[in-house]
Amino acid sequence: MATYGSPLYVYSRAEIEKNWHTFNDAFSNHPHLVCFAVKANSNLAVLNVLAKIGSGFDVVSRGELERVLAAGGQANRCVFSGVAKATDEIEYALEVGIRCFNVESSSELDRIESIANRLNAQAPISIRVNPDVDAKTHPYISTGLKENKFGVDINDAISLYEKANNSKYLDVQGLDCHIGSQITDVSPFLDALGKVLELIEELKTKGIEIAHLDLGGGIGIKYDNEQTIDVNAYIVSVLEKVGDLEIILEPGRAIVGNAGIFVTQVEFLKQNSEHSFAIIDGAMNDLLRPAFYSAYHQVLPVNENSNGTQANWDLVGPICETGDFLAKNRKLSLSEGDYLAIMSAGAYGFTMSSNYNSRPRVAEVIVSGDQHSLVRERETIQDLFNKEHLMND
Ligand SMILES: *Cc1c(COP(=O)(O)O)cnc(C)c1O
Repeated sequence: MATYGSPLYVYSRAEIEKNWHTFNDAFSNHPHLVCFAVKANSNLAVLNVLAKIGSGFDVVSRGELERVLAAGGQANRCVFSGVAKATDEIEYALEVGIRCFNVESSSELDRIESIANRLNAQAPISIRVNPDVDAKTHPYISTGLKENKFGVDINDAISLYEKANNSKYLDVQGLDCHIGSQITDVSPFLDALGKVLELIEELKTKGIEIAHLDLGGGIGIKYDNEQTIDVNAYIVSVLEKVGDLEIILEPGRAIVGNAGIFVTQVEFLKQNSEHSFAIIDGAMNDLLRPAFYSAYHQVLPVNENSNGTQANWDLVGPICETGDFLAKNRKLSLSEGDYLAIMSAGAYGFTMSSNYNSRPRVAEVIVSGDQHSLVRERETIQDLFNKEHLMND
């Protein structure tokens, strides 16, 4: 903190690599590609660490695709997901030669076809089907139910595949599904797998061959003491059912979530008859998950403080919103000036951060062995408004 200031994100390179290898190694010799979901953590250095060990990437925008390429990732190891791919995004993805578009609607399929036609290219596609399974996760991160905006109803998928198969500008490669995030039980994944394998069989009877099956991401991590999925056992049970089919996975959180912490400093302690507030320098704009999903993150003192004030503290930020908290009711011994580590903050932490309340976004650091490197500078106040202009009169 003396070097980089507070607040701050800190990631562990070794942990990121270990988590990716847990996925990759579970496949052994089975054809597969582990595509890191870039939206979980899109820092160039994080992407570069993963590119160097052979990771593929799941991107949801042109910005993410450009980041991957800038970080040394390969376009032909990128799959492109997302419900609303814009024309320039599709053109760019075709030009750089991505591995596959995960198509989420009939209109999007038409748009990709007409762009491929214009560029005289053949677009590799998968249809993202919505298997209508309940991932039993927070409603904001559940995506595989009929009521969600994602994917194509499994009953409509066949006609889309027939349409794609008849187009000379579309190359049917795979089938895709992603049912949600922070899923801690394997059964919704296996339910979805059963449904998509049936669909693949049905497509085969119509002469449509699927070369890869993309099962998305969504594997939950431990934020507290919850039970979660054993990655190796999950992949082994997938491989028992899929024959020779190539498998793509798109884990985000499971690779970076537990590889990062958010460090924040206690500014003021404020106690009244009802509550003990520790007012910290980090806020909901830096780490949105608690405010947005009521998410739980463990909080650990960076240095044990036996002289502090013992209480059940609410950790609240400087932002003018009652929802601005990072943790509630945590038994800690605190003094003003203490540093706290908000644990498991490596996924959907920095990437969801904003400048709300004109707060510059924080710095990011990666630790590798006994080295540490600044991989994103703290923004300056000038950065906040240097694209703004006064009117002329
Ligand atoms: C968000 C997302 C992922 C990654 O989800 P995690 O829960 O971080 O593993 C993968 N695929 C798609 C299509 C997504 O939208």
